[in-house]
Amino acid sequence: MTSLVTGLKECNVDLGQADFFITHMHADHSGLVSTLVGEGAKIYFGQADAEIIRSSTPEHWERMIDFASKCGFPREELERAVGNHPGRRYSPNNSLDFCILKDGDTIEIGDYLFECIETPGHTPGHICLYEPHKRVFISGDHVLVDITPNITLSSEGQNPLKQYLMSLDKVYNLDVELVLPGHRSVFKDQRKRIRELKQHHQSRLEEVIAILGEGNQNAFQVASLMTWDIGYKSWDSFPPAQKLFAFGEALAHLKYLEDEGEVSRQIERRGLIFFTGISNA
Ligand SMILES: [Zn+2]
Repeated sequence: MTSLVTGLKECNVDLGQADFFITHMHADHSGLVSTLVGEGAKIYFGQADAEIIRSSTPEHWERMIDFASKCGFPREELERAVGNHPGRRYSPNNSLDFCILKDGDTIEIGDYLFECIETPGHTPGHICLYEPHKRVFISGDHVLVDITPNITLSSEGQNPLKQYLMSLDKVYNLDVELVLPGHRSVFKDQRKRIRELKQHHQSRLEEVIAILGEGNQNAFQVASLMTWDIGYKSWDSFPPAQKLFAFGEALAHLKYLEDEGEVSRQIERRGLIFFTGISNA
């Protein structure tokens, strides 16, 4: 909180007069808004993420625990991971009044006229802002330069990786001079970075197919066999929260492959199992 307020002061931001724009619901992008917002200030937010924040109830987390445990996540570790989950501990107050932004809406600030671009994938309601005359793109966690945005499936019925890849295509042709992302450094060549991100997910999909080629697995096992570049020696030494992120990412890739007809699932006594090919069930 102190660092953020100090940083805003250095930029001459008068918090008493500020409106807020939130790219997406993750706590590291939205958590302090309830504390910072002044009377009458607007908080711009995407529809789908606003709904998730409003429905962030204990039942929501229970449903998530049930689904993950059905997919092989050990119950005890799961409860520890969810207990420490930043979305649970640091999300903004769910009774806030949001100004919902939709694709094509504009926000005018001084010389800048930002266009709102819905970019679902990293979260269902992720939004970027584009200023076509200044050629500035505020990418949130949609396009990052040194790290790949986490694409995670947290409940059934979604295909977040498919949405994410479509959202990358959606912004690929924008004429962008400067990208202002939500993490790490600003950068210039958005198209090159988008090509790299697409290649990254293609390689991950191939890795998941290769893992399932060794035998039927649940999503937790698939996650444990994927390669992760996050500085731990082995899967067993990952903290539960990191296992949960990895598990969500594995599930997102499995769901994508399932919708493409390359992977199938079946319910067995040990839970939900994935395998390559078409189900004969
Ligand atoms: Zn995020």
